[in-house]
Amino acid sequence: MRPVPVVDPLDRRIRAEQIRLLYAQAPLGAVASLLIAPLLALVLWDAVPSRVLLIWLALLETAVLLRLALALAFQRRTRDAAGSLDAWATRYAWACAASGVGWGGCVVLLALAPSLVYETFIALILGGVLMGGVLTMTPVLSVYLAYALPLALPPLLWLLLQGDPLRVAMGASGVLYLFLALGAAHRHHQTLIQSLRLALDNLGLAQSFAKAKEQAEEGHRRLAEQQAALRGSIQAMRELYEVISTPRRHPGEQIQAMLAMGCQHFGLAIGILSHVEGERYEIVQAMAADGGLTPGDCFALGDTYCRETLRAEEPLAFERASTGPRRQHPCYHRFGLEAYLGAPVRVGGRCYGTLNFSDVQPRPTPFTPVDRELIQLMAQWVGGALEQEQMAAAAQRQQTLLAHASRLNTLGEMATGLAHEINQPITAITLYSEMALTRIRQASVEPADLRETLEKIAAQSARAQAIIQHVRHFARQSKPQYTAVRIDELFDDIADFLRLEARRRYVQLRQDIAPNLPPVLADALQVQQVILNLVRNAVDAIADTEGARAIGVSARPDQAFIELAVRDTGPGVTPDLLGQLPHPFFTTKADGLGLGLSISQAIVEAHGGRLWATPNTDGPGVTFYFTLPVATRANLREHPAVALSLETG
Ligand code: ADP
Repeated sequence: MRPVPVVDPLDRRIRAEQIRLLYAQAPLGAVASLLIAPLLALVLWDAVPSRVLLIWLALLETAVLLRLALALAFQRRTRDAAGSLDAWATRYAWACAASGVGWGGCVVLLALAPSLVYETFIALILGGVLMGGVLTMTPVLSVYLAYALPLALPPLLWLLLQGDPLRVAMGASGVLYLFLALGAAHRHHQTLIQSLRLALDNLGLAQSFAKAKEQAEEGHRRLAEQQAALRGSIQAMRELYEVISTPRRHPGEQIQAMLAMGCQHFGLAIGILSHVEGERYEIVQAMAADGGLTPGDCFALGDTYCRETLRAEEPLAFERASTGPRRQHPCYHRFGLEAYLGAPVRVGGRCYGTLNFSDVQPRPTPFTPVDRELIQLMAQWVGGALEQEQMAAAAQRQQTLLAHASRLNTLGEMATGLAHEINQPITAITLYSEMALTRIRQASVEPADLRETLEKIAAQSARAQAIIQHVRHFARQSKPQYTAVRIDELFDDIADFLRLEARRRYVQLRQDIAPNLPPVLADALQVQQVILNLVRNAVDAIADTEGARAIGVSARPDQAFIELAVRDTGPGVTPDLLGQLPHPFFTTKADGLGLGLSISQAIVEAHGGRLWATPNTDGPGVTFYFTLPVATRANLREHPAVALSLETG
């Protein structure tokens, strides 16, 4: 028996189900045959020779047992590929054919039966067995045919060939029953196939529904994950924004806040900003739960995971070093760091170091893409902040140099006057010395007179020394040093210069410093430079004026500031020029550089103050004002210029 070639997957499955059903019903049919055959033999025991009966029974029961054995073997089979199922169908068809032949062997019993009653009984049993096969074998129609035809044809032929009308009629109705049985089997088979097709279609539908549901659930799960990641990234951005937008006086504080935020966000105990030069890894700022790391601590770069981060030029992250190849890493051996997240920091396009977070405890959850994005952003921000800081420090250095050059220039311009100023006490010293010598030569000197003259000489030489001291002090180059400075002391130190300037143009200089002014937070030298610039400008402006020639210098408190003013009676400044005054290189003087006011403005603003000019309303001339912050504990501790000392490579 050849299996029908099956191509369509659904047909293939239907075929498989048919064969399974065939075998599922096989025990029922086989057991029925096992019981009916002995019953028939028992009824015929006295009518037919027992040897014939026993041979028939043995042959039939062997064939039926074969079917039963096949049914059991089918239940125990391991795999059921479609091909092998077809082989099982073929095997069962052969077994059923053998059974059919066995039942067909009843033709011998018919021939030996002594009466029509026995023959009728045999025919009745055969009809029942034929109809029983319809119920159990129709899942595979060929199996039923293999069973029914050898079963029915021999007895029917025998009956038809007997010649007497009754037996011929029995044979004819048997033929009719055979056709009815085959028709019923075919019908039953078709219905079964349709039911199976319907069931499998339904199953397919149910499966596709289950698959669609699974896909929908998977999509939902992914969406939920994406939402969670999005929420995480919004939260991270908010934290980052809070850190960088909180106003702080110094970028170092912001970086420290960022390290704290990173430790908390990534759930790691250590946060480090490192500076790497060659093989040297230096901690610039650190955040460690146990406080065991301090800025300035140095390590070999190879002993840190940062070497990998710098080589990769992108964020590096791992949660548990001990379970991977990194358990051999020197960093794991030395420090036992399990979890790590780091990113390179670049300043001005060059590699500066790394921003990294780590912990000796493994991280229970894996780092997410958002974590990597976040550390990248943090490292970029830190690089930008360091670059800004470097630029500010460079600008500060430039300004210090420029201010120094400007002071030297001022001194150069005042050289003649200063020489004259120093010359005065020297001339006096010479006169007093000659006078004393003359008296000594004349031996007419009284010790009291001589002491008085010598005291005058000492006073004049102290005076000359003071002037020289002030010049040297004013000419020195130094980094800005912000301290609490008294305004009156500021003026005392440059009194010589101011007087000299006033005398240069026969100008009257008035000083009006309010008593008990609080000290200001300032670099004394730079503020003196501003005052001298303003007074010199005022003197220059007054030079060609007729009438009153006066300059007033004053200082008064104004809330958290001290306001200083230099007022002159010169020609003043036209409103259109007023805005241009502090521009570098703006000058109306033939030999002017146009730098005095711009340097003064930069100095005042670096102090946190303001410089401006207002035309006088109650007389000729203009008044230049500038403010300086009153020194407090807080601003003394936190002044930015003091903190501008992070020197970088
Ligand atoms: P410089 O003194 O070398 O010109 P400054 O920056 O000190 O440079 O001054 C810029 C210009 O501002 C001066 O050339 C002058 O025209 C104007 N100016 C400054 N102070 C006064 C003043 N008190 N009265 C009138 N004009 C002034």
